[in-house]
Amino acid sequence: MATTIAQNIAKLQQRISVAEQKYQRDHDSVKLMAVSKTKPAALIREAAAAGAYHIGENYLQEALEKIIELKDLDLCWHFIGPIQSNKTRPIAEHFDWVHGVDRLKIARRLSEQRPPSLPALNICLQVNVNDESSKSGVSLAELPELALAVAELPQLQLRGLMAIPKASTDQQEQRHNFAQVANAFKALQSQLPQLDTLSMGMSGDMDAAIAEGSTIVRIGTDIFGARATPPA
Ligand SMILES: *Cc1c(COP(=O)(O)O)cnc(C)c1O
Repeated sequence: MATTIAQNIAKLQQRISVAEQKYQRDHDSVKLMAVSKTKPAALIREAAAAGAYHIGENYLQEALEKIIELKDLDLCWHFIGPIQSNKTRPIAEHFDWVHGVDRLKIARRLSEQRPPSLPALNICLQVNVNDESSKSGVSLAELPELALAVAELPQLQLRGLMAIPKASTDQQEQRHNFAQVANAFKALQSQLPQLDTLSMGMSGDMDAAIAEGSTIVRIGTDIFGARATPPA
């Protein structure tokens, strides 16, 4: 019998295909990232058995433990949490992708600390699309300068943009926010044609993100269930 996690992943893959058709996106142009923060390695193993390959983690210490525990699996690890500058080395050493880069200082450290034996670290710059002071991310105005500088760093491969817009249940508003990120992405592509990744969409706004061009959706709750809220 299929596990709940396997059923959730199958349902999401179906929802992604339906959205690809509905919004005239190419078949298989949207990847699924399973976001497993706070969830044990055993559940990631179930997700992997059900076809999940891209795994997203926010908290460095628990992520490193899971990466070690699951090293027998062929998984692609994405760091999607806020990055402290004194924690860049283990991120550069153990992850395949980093989605929350919003400062040149952090990018430089990741490039310097990426072991030369590994392929370049894949980077998405986080954009603060609603200019929320509570959120990390570069403003749309400062994005081009940062992107051009990061694209020069030797051990990094700049792949695209990531955004977490203001939470909203209104699909028009969700689409409006994602469209701004997508427009900034297209503008950057004229100078940086290698950019191929728009990391947007979570459990509550996945369809709107696909409508606006997302190439990888980051889904936690709809795969693993609700997370316990951390103690205040
Ligand atoms: C937790 C998290 C997600 C997943 O959120 P859900 O709403 O549980 O799908 C996606 N992206 C980032 C950056 C996150 O921190």
